[in-house]
Amino acid sequence: MMSPKTILVWFRNDLRIHDNEILLEAINKAERVLPVYCFDDRQFRETATGSRKTGVKRARFLLESVADLKQTLQKAGGDLLVVQGHPEIVLPEIARKYEIAEVYHHREVAHEETHISTLVEDALWKLHINLKHFIGHTMYHKEDLPFPIKDIPDVFATFKKKVERDSEIRPCFATPQHIPLPDNVEESALPSLSDLGYPETADDNAALFIGGEHEGLKHLHELFIQPQLSKKVTSNLSPWLALGCLSIRQVYWVMKEYISNPDYGGFASQVILELLWRDYYRFMFKKHGNKFFRETGFTGKPLTFAENQELQFEKWKTGHTGMPFIDAVMRELNATGYVSFTGRTAVASYLIKNLAVNWTWGAAYFEEKLIDYSPASNWGNWAAIAGVGNNPKENRDINLQKEALNYDPKGDYVRKWVPELACIPGAQVHQPWLLSETETENYGIGNTIYDAVISNLQTAT
Ligand SMILES: Cc1cc2nc3c(=O)[nH]c(=O)nc-3n(C[C@H](O)[C@H](O)[C@H](O)COP(=O)(O)OP(=O)(O)OC[C@H]3O[C@@H](n4cnc5c(N)ncnc54)[C@H](O)[C@@H]3O)c2cc1C
Repeated sequence: MMSPKTILVWFRNDLRIHDNEILLEAINKAERVLPVYCFDDRQFRETATGSRKTGVKRARFLLESVADLKQTLQKAGGDLLVVQGHPEIVLPEIARKYEIAEVYHHREVAHEETHISTLVEDALWKLHINLKHFIGHTMYHKEDLPFPIKDIPDVFATFKKKVERDSEIRPCFATPQHIPLPDNVEESALPSLSDLGYPETADDNAALFIGGEHEGLKHLHELFIQPQLSKKVTSNLSPWLALGCLSIRQVYWVMKEYISNPDYGGFASQVILELLWRDYYRFMFKKHGNKFFRETGFTGKPLTFAENQELQFEKWKTGHTGMPFIDAVMRELNATGYVSFTGRTAVASYLIKNLAVNWTWGAAYFEEKLIDYSPASNWGNWAAIAGVGNNPKENRDINLQKEALNYDPKGDYVRKWVPELACIPGAQVHQPWLLSETETENYGIGNTIYDAVISNLQTAT
């Protein structure tokens, strides 16, 4: 008797069962479906600069997300086979063992991820097994764009105008109710943080976000529960979007429901605009590829850096530049793995323009630290601020003090993250160098970097 056709669904950054074409299609096409997640140690390694590809907070969020997916699949009669190793070695082994007919996955966009898909494809091919690629990480389907990828405008406003006029967003796929698992799937447990190489004590701060589809959907719906949230201007959905615990299309269609609502309409349309930026950077990555990881970006514009850039970079990373708002953002990033768009723009701009440090170092640092790290969104935004990516004309110098005061008009944010300055009242905390000598003494800033900055500036004036 012929064994039933089994399709392996390779989960990567699509850790959900709602609006997940590969899972649904596998269920429709095969008698049996084997969902697999592979923890790839290359994802957790230390880089040449001593940072890690994935910081502990994102690793934790990922573990939570995979655990949640496993539970959800189990509730639907299936399971998630969790393995550790290189996918190009592990997946063919599983394919042989479970007599897999085909493997489905969502196509990624950045080089490291697509390179791994190619290795997997080649290894499977030797077993005469096809790796089928699906497109599922963007709000607009690539094939519905009004231009081929190579002709996508490098200026966002032009892209937006044409896409909104000529393209439509597809509906979501149905959520499967039952996963027909092959017989005798082996039991598999998730690795712990220490299995992935993190010290037990590496993450003892309370987490801001809990990973997983369940938490992501809950957060999405809670955005619209309390009327006072109508004033909210950002969604904080990015960690779940980055790992695909939430489908971007699902978020779009939920926002669309509220677009004419007097309380939430403004917020919903702002989120849709931001989702378009997310799409845009992904398409740009498809267009310009690896150039986004180079100092000269895709414009090829040469850059010059400060001679002491190593030292400056160290101060920036640890939040000891002497610029209160910048230090607050960096310390928040280090402590939580998450900062606002305003904060990210300010610290990136400061590193590039004020400290003249190589922007790719900053982008790599964000890659380690951010819970919501996503290659195209991170490197795309960094390259734009460095003036070597998109929207070169919009690469205006930002007025840091103005941004800081808009974001934190009473100074509470800076006081929270930079306790050395906690005694300075109100917005004065943003510019301690404007304090008089008596005030400096009264506020007891002495012996801090801020004291040094103040005296330097006082001597200079
Ligand atoms: C230097 C720098 C690095 C960044 N790195 C990342 C990153 O690694 N991952 C990431 O998701 N975002 C990144 N961003 C974009 C942005 O800061 C975050 O997406 C946003 O702050 C997340 O908060 P939110 O979910 O409340 O966003 P909202 O304002 O509610 O937006 C909704 C969603 O749209 C997407 N989005 C919003 N702004 C952008 C943007 N400028 N570019 C691309 N997508 C956007 C996110 O998925 C976000 O969740 C970066 C921005 C800068 C300036």
